[in-house]
Amino acid sequence: MAILVQKYGGTSLGDAAKIKSVAQRVARSREAGNEIAVVVSAMGKTTDALIALADSVSPAPEPREMDLLLSTGEVVSSTLMAMALREIGVPSISMGGAQAGIRTDAAHGRASIVHLDPARVRHELDGGTVVIIAGFQGINDEMDITTLGRGGSDTTGVALAIALEADRCEIYTDVDGIYTADPRVVPDAKKLAEIGYEEMLELATYGAKMHPRSIELAAWYKLPVLVASSTANVPGTLIHDITSDGGDAMEVSNKVRGVTYDRDVARVTIRGVLDSPGISARVFEPLTDAGISVDTIVQNASTERLTDLSFTVERRNVTQALEVTRRIATDIGAADCVAHDHLGNVSIVGTGMQNAPGFASRMFRALADAAINIEMITTSQIRITCLVDESQVDEAVRVLHDAFEVG
Ligand code: ASP
Ligand code: MG
Repeated sequence: MAILVQKYGGTSLGDAAKIKSVAQRVARSREAGNEIAVVVSAMGKTTDALIALADSVSPAPEPREMDLLLSTGEVVSSTLMAMALREIGVPSISMGGAQAGIRTDAAHGRASIVHLDPARVRHELDGGTVVIIAGFQGINDEMDITTLGRGGSDTTGVALAIALEADRCEIYTDVDGIYTADPRVVPDAKKLAEIGYEEMLELATYGAKMHPRSIELAAWYKLPVLVASSTANVPGTLIHDITSDGGDAMEVSNKVRGVTYDRDVARVTIRGVLDSPGISARVFEPLTDAGISVDTIVQNASTERLTDLSFTVERRNVTQALEVTRRIATDIGAADCVAHDHLGNVSIVGTGMQNAPGFASRMFRALADAAINIEMITTSQIRITCLVDESQVDEAVRVLHDAFEVG
């Protein structure tokens, strides 16, 4: 009997009716002869609502309290799913992350899984029971509940599939796969039948709605991940190890695979920084200490030993980031700090870029022709990202999808 791990996202579990219809799907997969472990997200926008509730009680809640609070969202879905399954005659049991053997480090709000002992889950599966696991959470050495960071249920699903030695992890969501661009922005975007881990990791990190750590983990263990619709019965996208010896790999590899975007970007610039050893460390250590995760960093070449230092953060962190950098700026004698909080990233991704010149210039030309100003540029081996004004993000995605004939 095959072990299947299925993860269902929050929008697929938005209300009682949706929970019941997911239960029907799970029941059908079981009838087909599989042992099934299900990982669930919190219903609909529950996590956002819990965060807002906490904010209204305390402006800076203890991370430990926050994690215990947020973990309840997933616990609610898991219990309701187990009830819905029993209601249609399927033996099932719900478990919190800790009960499912998920041990994490102590980094509240962004904990990493250090160990997953699937013995209890496996025991239940052996007895023919469907196990429903609350996603996005685990327990640390102090026996405190931790969460894995927003979107972390994907990572729970992948980790569980690896621990149970399942053939693959299936991620069911409200979109039916990974597209060449967001179909809401680019109507002629095409669904990809498959994609490699490397490209998917870049897409996820720079916009696509999957927890990037789930892709890293899957890539490490070469676990195939299927992303598919939780309602329609149409083929999804298989994320797996694509090697370049396939029939048409040569032609395919020369292309941009996808265009992605992230509307939630703010930039902080420190102007007139003395260009001397140790300055960057002095700027970024306090940001790390404040728990602010910095994305792109750009330092200009200096003139007269003075330089500008810019970095991007999520918008919700910009006020705090600016406070921290203002303090440091005074210490290191920088001229001033400014923030721009309505920016967005637009990225093109494709392994074919690795050894072919010309992708960057074509990208810049396409944006220029659409009168879109580029605020900052960053690249990896297989990605080019331009920071643009938030209001021009959609247009930039469409223009690039067209220019590189991705669809
Ligand atoms: N409920 C959590 C969130 O909204 C985790 C998840 O859905 O994966 O971020
Ligand atoms: Mg998600």
